[in-house]
Amino acid sequence: MNYSIAIDGPAGAGKSTVARLVAEKLNYIYVDTGAMYRAIAVYFSQNSIDPDDVQAAGEAVAGIDITISYRDGIQQVILNGENITALLRTEETGRMASKISRHAPVRTKLVDLQRSLAARNNVVMDGRDIGTTVLPDAFVKIYLTASVTARAKRRFDELAAKGQACDFEEIKADIEQRDYQDMHREISPLSQAQDAVFVDTSDMNISQATEAVMEIVNQKRSGRA
Ligand code: C5P
Repeated sequence: MNYSIAIDGPAGAGKSTVARLVAEKLNYIYVDTGAMYRAIAVYFSQNSIDPDDVQAAGEAVAGIDITISYRDGIQQVILNGENITALLRTEETGRMASKISRHAPVRTKLVDLQRSLAARNNVVMDGRDIGTTVLPDAFVKIYLTASVTARAKRRFDELAAKGQACDFEEIKADIEQRDYQDMHREISPLSQAQDAVFVDTSDMNISQATEAVMEIVNQKRSGRA
């Protein structure tokens, strides 16, 4: 039997870094599901497909082949034979991903891919709907969040460290809009699964957040929770 740990939460809560570190500690693979939605977003942008056009979204998804592989333990996303991992982490792609992730054909395709990875491996999987929809029987479920201000500050610091010009209020508004879209869409909106443990990382650094999650995992493993 394979074990899975589901980590859901809004943008900027620290999910991906925490999930990657927890996966390393447990020797599980880290599955970044946001990267899969971002890959489809790149396809939409490259092919000038309107993200609001439901029919076009269905047709586009039918022609997309997405596979996941690992290089030195790092997830790679292959879109129609091309490794597009390096293109995924821009703000623009994140915004586009949030728009196209509303569509049923997009979600169905990616949920199938995510479940097949979890069926074959021990995984730490992060996203928006992992505990509620993708892996409802996950061994541990975490809802990782932080205040909008804390999340905006992290994103601001990240972009500033890369030397990119950015405006704090713009970043904050962008995060609020993405939260709203992800929490109010019809299919699999972001929400805390009933059996997920709530972790607020507003006042934690990455190593504290990772320790908090490891503590929850260890409690569950020892039968204490
Ligand atoms: O986590 P990340 O910022 O990479 O996700 C990009 C977008 O992909 C999210 O804003 C969300 O709309 C979508 N997403 C999703 N379900 C997931 C993971 C991501 O809808 N499991």
